[in-house]
Amino acid sequence: MPPDRAAAHERARQAVLDSYRLSETGAEQAFDEIVRLVTRLCGAPASTLSLIDRDRQWFKASIGTDCSSTPRLLSICDYTIRSSSPLVIEDVARDPRFTRLPVRIGGEPVRFYAGVPVHGHGGHVLGTLTAMDVRPRALEEDQLDSLQILARQCERLLELRWFGLEQRRLADERASTLRKAERAQEYLRQEMEQIVETARLDPLTGLLNRAALSQLRGDPAALARLDAGTYCLIVLDIDHFKQINDAHGHREGDRALRAVGEVVEASVRHDDVAVRFGGEEFLLILPQTTLEAALEVAERIRAGVAAMDLPFPVTVSAGVAAGDPAGPLPEVVFEAADRALYQAKQGGRDRVVVADGVAGVNG
Ligand code: GH3
Ligand code: MG
Ligand code: MG
Repeated sequence: MPPDRAAAHERARQAVLDSYRLSETGAEQAFDEIVRLVTRLCGAPASTLSLIDRDRQWFKASIGTDCSSTPRLLSICDYTIRSSSPLVIEDVARDPRFTRLPVRIGGEPVRFYAGVPVHGHGGHVLGTLTAMDVRPRALEEDQLDSLQILARQCERLLELRWFGLEQRRLADERASTLRKAERAQEYLRQEMEQIVETARLDPLTGLLNRAALSQLRGDPAALARLDAGTYCLIVLDIDHFKQINDAHGHREGDRALRAVGEVVEASVRHDDVAVRFGGEEFLLILPQTTLEAALEVAERIRAGVAAMDLPFPVTVSAGVAAGDPAGPLPEVVFEAADRALYQAKQGGRDRVVVADGVAGVNG
């Protein structure tokens, strides 16, 4: 074989051996029993299951030898793995290739060697199953046959091990893919939530927008809160906002809108709903709230807006109306609040009017 092909072949062989992850493993009964059988069937004092690693041979199982590994270059097995056939050397001492064998059997040098290649995945040779003796001798045909049968048994055991590892790798891969998919799903869910939430909010003030209000009308939880007792609606509108825009510009108008939004936000409770209902109109839904309490909230907002620290004065007018589950529909209550707002505008603005003129507060 040309040198670069041989090198590529050896790299592939080594990769296959590595894929069995044997290098850190110790003795295993199944392989120990095989080398015991080899010594019995071949009538030899020593046997090894030798694996040929990068620069050493090491014995996954051995019996009768004085060491558990040797440099690769000083091993007969390194020769054996170069072909797919068994290698039998009846007198090692007469073979000039093996003058410095480090393996000893009971302190004596190896004189007889019989090795059968042990194949791994893809037909690569991982090592050898050997029988060794301290005297020169031959191997009977049925003994060689037994050695080959046992070498094939080693191959099957190694194959089983490889499949076990592969199964575990695939299971780990599946678990990791599943974890990734779960993380991606959670990310998408949060993104969706964010998108839905963003779509519900007015970007200028951060309050709910009109679309969110429509959703609330179909939301049983929101309706149940209105069904829990007396509730109030407050409709708020910025006074002469057109003039603010005209006099100070649209950007300053936006700034005023944001500031009013902040006052509204700060004046409502957690359970209340604050909506930027139109350009400069706001709707507040206050569940389980008496008219007196709602009036206080509206007045707090009116006073808060009037006291805002802007380069120009801003005021709001508000209409307040109360409803209860046994009374008219919320739409009717809203119309009453809107009429009250109209009255507040008519009355001079910067004021809160309660629907049907039940009560009113001037700014
Ligand atoms: P009134 O006191 O009767 O409510 O008078 P008004 O000027 O506030 O009412 P009108 O309905 O005439 O004008 C509302 C103005 O609000 C007109 C519109 O340009 C402005 N407006 C609506 N949305 C926005 C917005 O997002 N930003 C700004 N800067 N102005 C807006
Ligand atoms: Mg207005
Ligand atoms: Mg308006």
